[in-house]
Amino acid sequence: MKLSDWITGLNAGGSDGWGVFYKAREMKAAGEAVLELTIGEHDIRTSDAILEAMYRSALGGHTGYAMVPGVNSLRDVVAERIAERTGVPTTRNNIMITPGGQSALFSTHCAVCDTGDTALFIAPYYATYPGTLRAAGAVPVCVDARAEDAFQPRAGEIAAVAPGAKSLLINSPNNPTGVVYSRATLEGIASVCMDNDLWLISDEVYDTQVWKGEHISPRALPGMAERTLVVGSMSKSHAMTGSRVGWIAGPEEVIARLIDLATTTTYGVPGFIQDAAEFALLQGPDLEEEVAAPFRRRRDIARAILAKQNTVGLIPADGAMYLMLDIRATGKSGEEFAEGLLAEERIATMPGESFGTAAAGHLRVAMTIDDDAFADALTRLVSYAERITP
Ligand code: PLP
Repeated sequence: MKLSDWITGLNAGGSDGWGVFYKAREMKAAGEAVLELTIGEHDIRTSDAILEAMYRSALGGHTGYAMVPGVNSLRDVVAERIAERTGVPTTRNNIMITPGGQSALFSTHCAVCDTGDTALFIAPYYATYPGTLRAAGAVPVCVDARAEDAFQPRAGEIAAVAPGAKSLLINSPNNPTGVVYSRATLEGIASVCMDNDLWLISDEVYDTQVWKGEHISPRALPGMAERTLVVGSMSKSHAMTGSRVGWIAGPEEVIARLIDLATTTTYGVPGFIQDAAEFALLQGPDLEEEVAAPFRRRRDIARAILAKQNTVGLIPADGAMYLMLDIRATGKSGEEFAEGLLAEERIATMPGESFGTAAAGHLRVAMTIDDDAFADALTRLVSYAERITP
């Protein structure tokens, strides 16, 4: 039986760059000691206190259908958190709770793009972006940020492809680069959106992981609240990746339509998960800092190791749980380097090419193993790079 072109086309186009990841998993399964610096999953688990809140809620009976837009108390807590941190007036009517940021990325594009509309996004990009935009019926068009600009996208280059497009998706702090967009970058992006009547979809799932400067939500820039949809998540901020809970913040009329979409797709998020998320958010910034701290620490470890050599470059790593390393001096592609590093040193990283050609000749390193193992992995990565450099 033939499947739809739509579903078979979701992941069309190019190497997905996950070869090294799968090979590393096979090597581990065969009993080899492999250091995995591949995926964005904390090396800690969801805290006992959050799990106990989940358990109390489930035992208390919150196991039936929950409110489709999210339970009111969680929507209120999310709205207050956003209003406090951005200064943008936000109420529960501006918030819909979603099964994670991924679902929010899909739903927001469904809300603003009709089939065949152009949806812009920036490369290097989080691996699901092109498929998500296609899933929403849009035609993904990528704008490359450049290594020489430390991967801050140029407004002029977005403006060049903006006429006729419907939306622009950005992500700061950024996966895979670890770059935090500057105010100037975001103001440039905001102008392009206003000049070209674009919706801005702002993926802020790493908003609590900023090592330098501040996280600026573009929804807070003048004139942007009515055209910005913010994607948020508990996954990275509270080590709750498996709980699948996040949100969309945006104009009331968009949220009302998104609730129609949720009613016909997810039918909401389990009540006991939402209660656990509310409990976690009410612990305040201390818990968020505690979850973020290991990545900041490992970023510093990496900087100290990389400062002693000239072969491997580091894109300024100001946020998120990743480092983007420039290995072009070795003469290898990211893919060749990552394959070689896995074969010779048993260290798995993601080739930059997995995140678009903008990151060719780079490697993404997830800082998701304990400090000593991380320091060891980076030291060996550097010696491997030095060894293979002509
Ligand atoms: N956006 C970015 C940039 C990510 O890196 C991820 C996950 O790694 C997500 C969204 C999706 O996160 P979740 O669906 O777990 O909230």
